Amino acid sequence: MKIGILGAGQLGRMLTLDGLRLGHEFSLYDPTGKGSAGVGTVYNDAEGEHLETFLNDTDVVTYEFEHLPLDLVNRIAMEKPVHPLPRALQYCQNRTLEKALFRDLGISTAPFEVVDSAAALQAATQRMGGRVVAKSATDGYDGKGQAVLESPEQAADAWPRIGCNTAIAESFVPFHRELSIVAARGQDGELAFYPLAENIHHQGILRFSIAPAPHIKPELEDQAQRMIRTLMNELGYVGVLALEMFETDEGLVANEMAPRVHNSGHWSQNGAVTSQFENHIRAVSGLPLGETAAFQPTCMINLISETGRVADILKLPYTHLHLYGKSERLGRKLGHINILADSLEELRWRAMNTASLLPGCPDFEWRP
Ligand code: AMP
Repeated sequence: MKIGILGAGQLGRMLTLDGLRLGHEFSLYDPTGKGSAGVGTVYNDAEGEHLETFLNDTDVVTYEFEHLPLDLVNRIAMEKPVHPLPRALQYCQNRTLEKALFRDLGISTAPFEVVDSAAALQAATQRMGGRVVAKSATDGYDGKGQAVLESPEQAADAWPRIGCNTAIAESFVPFHRELSIVAARGQDGELAFYPLAENIHHQGILRFSIAPAPHIKPELEDQAQRMIRTLMNELGYVGVLALEMFETDEGLVANEMAPRVHNSGHWSQNGAVTSQFENHIRAVSGLPLGETAAFQPTCMINLISETGRVADILKLPYTHLHLYGKSERLGRKLGHINILADSLEELRWRAMNTASLLPGCPDFEWRP
C-alpha cells in the first residue's frame, strides 16, 4: 500500500521505518517546508506546489503532526481516505473544544472556563479560587503559551505572556505524577491498549517515560482505558491516540490528547511486542493490530539540544539508541534511548547511569 504522511519530522520517520517492514511505500508531505524525516519520498512544500503529486502517489493519508491547516486536511479528505478523521485534529488544535469534549463525554478533567481578556481571566480565577493554569486555546505545546496564577491579581501580568486571543483557565490539579495511555483502534473498531507510562518533564519538555508505570492499580488502568476508548469510539478513530493524564487521590484527570503516535509511547519500539508506530500503520492500512504487552520494565530518555557521545551510549549493553538525523539546536528533540531491565531497581540504576552520560540531561531522580 502507498501511505502518505502529513508532516515529515521524527514521528513520520519512525512510522515509515516500521511501515516499510510491512511492505508499504511512504511519501511524506511537509507544509512547513522543514521536513527532516530523511526516509521515504519527502515533499517539502511550503508553497503548496506539490500536493497533487503527493496525493497521486498515495492510497491512504495519515498525519504525524496536529498543527496542520485544517482546510488542507479537509481538502485532502475529499480525495483520499484520511485516518484519523480530520475532526480528531479539529478537537486537538483547540483546547476549548477538547476540554468541552472531555466534559461532554464524562471524562474527568480539571474544571475550566474560556476567557478572552486579562479582565476575564481575573474574574475566572476569582470564581475558581486557588491556583489556576491559563493556557492559550490554540498553538500551545510543550508547556508554551501557559501561565500559572496564584491569585486573580496576577491576571494582568499573565495575559500578555500567554499571547493569544482566547485561553482556558483551569484549576491547578494537585497530582502525584503524570501518566499517559497510548491506544490503537483499527478500521473494524478493534482496540489495543498499551500499558500506562509515567512521564517526567523538565523545563516543559518530556525527558523520561517509564513503562509500564509501576504501582498502577487495576481500577486506574481500567479508568484510563475507559477514557481513551470513549474518545476513540466517539471520534470514529482509526490509528494511534495518546491521552495525557494526572494521577490524583480521586483517580485520573485527563489533561490533553494527541491524535498521533506520541513521545510517551516511544518505549514501545523496544519494550513492547508491537511498537506504537507499527500499530498505527497497521490500523491506517486496514491490517489487524499487534500485541501491545510490555516485555520488561522500560525507560525512554529523550536526547534534547545535544546528542552527546553516541559511542559511550552504545557501549552500554542495555541501551537502544534512536537518532532522528537532525542537527543540534537548543530545545530540539534529536533522538531517544530506550533502556530495558529485569527489575524496576535495575531500571533505575541503568537510567541514572545513562542520564549521567548525556550533556544537559537532568539527573534521573525517579524511584519506583
Ligand atoms: P500541557 O501543555 O497541557 O500538556 O501542560 C504542560 C504541563 O503543565 C503538564 O505536563 C503539567 O506538568 C502542567 N500542567 C498543565 N495543566 C495543569 C493543571 N491543570 N494542573 C497542574 N499542572 C498542570
